[in-house]
Amino acid sequence: MSLTPGTLPLIFNKEVTPADGPVYILTIVCRELNKTGGNRRLRGKLTDGKYESQMSVIVTDKNLEKGDLLKIKHWNITGNSDKMLFQVEDFEVEKKSFPVPKTLKGWRYGDAFEKPAKSVSAPKKKVAVPGATGVARGKENAKPQTADGRYMSVMTLTPYMNKWCIKARVVQKGPLKEYQNAKGAGKLFAFTVDDGTCNLKISAFNDEVDKFFNIVEKGKVVTISNGQLKPKNAQYNSTNHDYECTLGRMTTIEEVMDDCDDIPQMTFNFEPISKIISDRAKGAFVDVCAVINEVGAIDTINTRAGKQLEKRDLEIVDDSTKEKMRCTLWGQQAVDFSASRGQVMAVKAASVGEFQGKTLSVGRDSEIILDFAEDHGQKLNVWWTQEGQDAAFEGQSGAGSSGGKRNEMVLLDSIMQGANYQTDDKPYWFNSKCYLTYIKKERMMYKGCPGKDDQKCNKKLIEEDDGMYRCEKCNQNFQNFNYRIMMQAAVTDGRGQQYCTFFGETAEQILGKPADELGEMFNSDGNEFDDFINTKSCLEFILGGRAKCEIYQDEQRLKVAAQRVAQIDFNKYGLDLASRLQEFEPKAA
Ligand SMILES: [Zn+2]
Repeated sequence: MSLTPGTLPLIFNKEVTPADGPVYILTIVCRELNKTGGNRRLRGKLTDGKYESQMSVIVTDKNLEKGDLLKIKHWNITGNSDKMLFQVEDFEVEKKSFPVPKTLKGWRYGDAFEKPAKSVSAPKKKVAVPGATGVARGKENAKPQTADGRYMSVMTLTPYMNKWCIKARVVQKGPLKEYQNAKGAGKLFAFTVDDGTCNLKISAFNDEVDKFFNIVEKGKVVTISNGQLKPKNAQYNSTNHDYECTLGRMTTIEEVMDDCDDIPQMTFNFEPISKIISDRAKGAFVDVCAVINEVGAIDTINTRAGKQLEKRDLEIVDDSTKEKMRCTLWGQQAVDFSASRGQVMAVKAASVGEFQGKTLSVGRDSEIILDFAEDHGQKLNVWWTQEGQDAAFEGQSGAGSSGGKRNEMVLLDSIMQGANYQTDDKPYWFNSKCYLTYIKKERMMYKGCPGKDDQKCNKKLIEEDDGMYRCEKCNQNFQNFNYRIMMQAAVTDGRGQQYCTFFGETAEQILGKPADELGEMFNSDGNEFDDFINTKSCLEFILGGRAKCEIYQDEQRLKVAAQRVAQIDFNKYGLDLASRLQEFEPKAA
């Protein structure tokens, strides 16, 4: 057998598939790729005798040399239209020292090409894929499963198919959730599969939860047949697919025990930071590969549900822009995260947020791979060593323009002296360990608007003569009200004292009582309210505050409001102190 010039473009375009029989391709250069777990792989420059392509990955224990003629029996085309990869999975060396033609044309996916004089494959029936956008060409050639065990590629799935079967890896699995709706109680779980062509979100309800929850495990390769596809709900779906899948009574899922090397562990569609900043809206999901420029300390916030949640901010950078980006980890992932400046990190499905510029959040559906060593990671490593590590990055992600770091632990006098905020409109955010030393009890409680049509309002109500309460904002009279807190209190540490406003939830957290209970106390006779408030004096806590300079009657005033409060975690606080002490240690010359 010999080469068929013009075969490579057909392979990339999936006009030739393994079902058409083996192809013959010649090795020009092969080198070993860095191992990222799994199988040993080579990166190859290959040719069909006419075109040459560097976009090949060969899964093998052997080494290949220039002139090795490969008989390739099984392969996969993976990636996206920007970067299609020919992944060679089963081959033998048919001949060694085969002459390499001298005049070869470099070819990349998307380039024009001449087909071989004699077509190596019969023309195929094309299946239209209505509604599908943004996925690579060539997908029309995947077929439903046949007797020889071929599967449809995930990216070809549409709601217009009756029967299908895919083989894919479970790359993410969510927890079992229970819910209540008009039909009664139910349960569900969702997971994501990826076969290298695309990822797909799959949901299971009730009976299907019982059937499949234990079969579906992160990392496993499974075959799945016959679920129901529908357009995805983009708000809750981080996949690249246009559709999502719900399992039904006809669905089968089976674990595949062997022969899974063709299913990659995880595929990425990286976007440079510059593109995320300019093009991506809040709520979008993106894959990002970047260098860690700073690892923030662990921090605790109080959620709306009243629970404490750990968070950690990272500052990430890449070679696309001089702007850095904040990337936040949550919960156990934030606690366990261990990396340092200069490490390359890949994140699958981070969600885009907007807070003092674009930010990223690594949620439960996201995945992080540290020291990411594929092409992207290697490129960034080189950039970081040569240029990035000495570059100055701009942006709000970590250090503010005033020199202070966001959420840095500070002493109160530095805020009061204005060292860390500016007189322009920018607020300064800080954390401080301090004591509550004085609470203004007068006018602390007010009667807030209950709101209409389920809309929250909370505006201060005016008491009418007829016993009703009037909200000017809602333009309505109410019989009832909600007690609300607006507490002015002095906070003090070893270096200073500052008045701070605590609204609503932060006040409830620090006082440890809901507003309505406090309101009842406030309204009742006797000293109960005063006594209770007095017990809170000298309470020690972490204040997450926002300081801003405001002009009031031609005078500058520093306004400080509590954004969050937290109990002191002495373990974390001790570590923070220790790291600050290190700054005072003499540096080696
Ligand atoms: Zn109102």
